[in-house]
Amino acid sequence: MSTTETIVGAVTDIVGGEHVVADEESRHFYSADISFEAYEPAALVARPGSTEELAAIVERASAEGFAVVARGGGMSYTQGYTPATDRTVLVDMRRMNAIREINTEDMYVVAEAGCTWEQLYEALGEEGVRTPYYGPLSGRFATVGGAASQNSVFWGGGAYASVADSIVGLEVVLSGGRVLHTGSWARSGCSPFLRHNGPDLTGIFTGDTGAYGLKAAVAIRLVKAPSVSLGASFSVPDFATSTAALSELARYGIASEAYGLDPFYTDVMVRAGLGFLADHPWSIHFGVDAVDESIAQAGLDFLKRIAADFGPEIDNTTVGVFKSNPFGAVQSILLGPEGELWLPVHAFLPLSRAQEAAAAIEGWFDDIQPQLDQHNIKTSLLTAAAGKDFLFEPSLYWFDELGEFRLDKIAPEAAEEWKSIPADPETRSVVLDLRRQMAKRLDDLGCCHIQVGKYYDYEPLMEDETWKLTQGIKQLVDPDRLINPGSLGL
Ligand SMILES: Cc1cc2nc3c(=O)[nH]c(=O)nc-3n(C[C@H](O)[C@H](O)[C@H](O)COP(=O)(O)OP(=O)(O)OC[C@H]3O[C@@H](n4cnc5c(N)ncnc54)[C@H](O)[C@@H]3O)c2cc1C
Repeated sequence: MSTTETIVGAVTDIVGGEHVVADEESRHFYSADISFEAYEPAALVARPGSTEELAAIVERASAEGFAVVARGGGMSYTQGYTPATDRTVLVDMRRMNAIREINTEDMYVVAEAGCTWEQLYEALGEEGVRTPYYGPLSGRFATVGGAASQNSVFWGGGAYASVADSIVGLEVVLSGGRVLHTGSWARSGCSPFLRHNGPDLTGIFTGDTGAYGLKAAVAIRLVKAPSVSLGASFSVPDFATSTAALSELARYGIASEAYGLDPFYTDVMVRAGLGFLADHPWSIHFGVDAVDESIAQAGLDFLKRIAADFGPEIDNTTVGVFKSNPFGAVQSILLGPEGELWLPVHAFLPLSRAQEAAAAIEGWFDDIQPQLDQHNIKTSLLTAAAGKDFLFEPSLYWFDELGEFRLDKIAPEAAEEWKSIPADPETRSVVLDLRRQMAKRLDDLGCCHIQVGKYYDYEPLMEDETWKLTQGIKQLVDPDRLINPGSLGL
């Protein structure tokens, strides 16, 4: 069996010593996500600079019997990139961040997988275009390849759903270092302009949480950048009304984004200067993007008439503040307003089931309130429209050590203030247990998870034949089970 020394040497030959880290501290740092769930430290972390280097790493690792796992911005929390074995080469994709082509005639962009959403958004803005879905709230750090693998949602998601819906083709490195393209990109002499060149092979690799291959580059549809963004906000009496209103707005697919704020997030906004929200603990907010003022205004007026059935209109500053800095909210999501750690469960529901699931989790939070109080654990209920689906993200917050990853992602003043919060393993284990219970409850309510990784149950909830196909594809693309073993339950 090959040793760690052999693989470190081989990968160093491919990418150069400055792009390999193998010290113990770094191996742990890169191998752990923010979920505090179990992981094995990778044998080394490699930073390839091209598809050729990436393919060579995978080829060599496969030959030496080492697993390979891709890590983008590391912003996920479902054990997606956490190695299942210490015989793993963890590939930090962020050096592969080139934007290869912006084609404003055929309206697609090709970006390397390690490009962040913020980098892509800014580069496209200079050309007067945008991707339809344009990134998660974590997009300052989260990469195009990570989001494609997790199928992330948020910016542009009200009208354009998740990132997978905007992708037209992929360049993927399979086990053994084989490289393939999907969609029209796979046809000789063809550009990546069309997703459905025969069956949808792109779809197989989106949302796979890295289990089927390593995305080297992603081709994404473009639209003309909207020149007008308008927004509206409404106060609603309670969570049930908020859920009903968002579901109804989602059915029209006009809002670029539509989301609800609960008392927890309202408090965050009030502390950030939006004092008027203090009178509205529950509220909904939506925006309309368009290339022309009259189109945006007509869309907004229409949605306002829908929303007016659920509550009174209020000041719309919230929408504009958010939208003006789409990737600036990392700190206010990653941590509570006093530096509390955050852990969510991410769930997708059909609109018809949203109210039931929301009521069940709200009721469960009420039931466990004494336990929450005992450990000073707080909760929030984040909701949004994702195309014609409902995104529900109940979260838990508690005081615990922030650690290097979180400290690095927040404002220096906040890091200075909160870096001395001590570790609290006892409360942490209560939180991890509650989080599992919450995921189970949502599973029982028929929720799906787009960020399966190694955290959520997948196989036990699948039909036999579908699971067999899922495994069959794995057998084809990764017969030795060396690409992110354990991800997607494979
Ligand atoms: C503050 C904060 C805000 C967030 N906001 C949102 C949000 O608005 N919407 C949302 O959907 N999620 C959100 N998330 C979750 C997370 O940021 C997203 O899922 C994001 O898409 C992850 O991207 P990443 O580059 O960090 O991927 P990583 O976390 O590095 O990886 C995610 C998964 O993708 C795989 N992967 C990464 N790169 C590749 C590649 N090139 N090829 C194959 N597999 C790969 C990994 O192995 C892993 O399984 C948020 C998280 C945080 C911490």
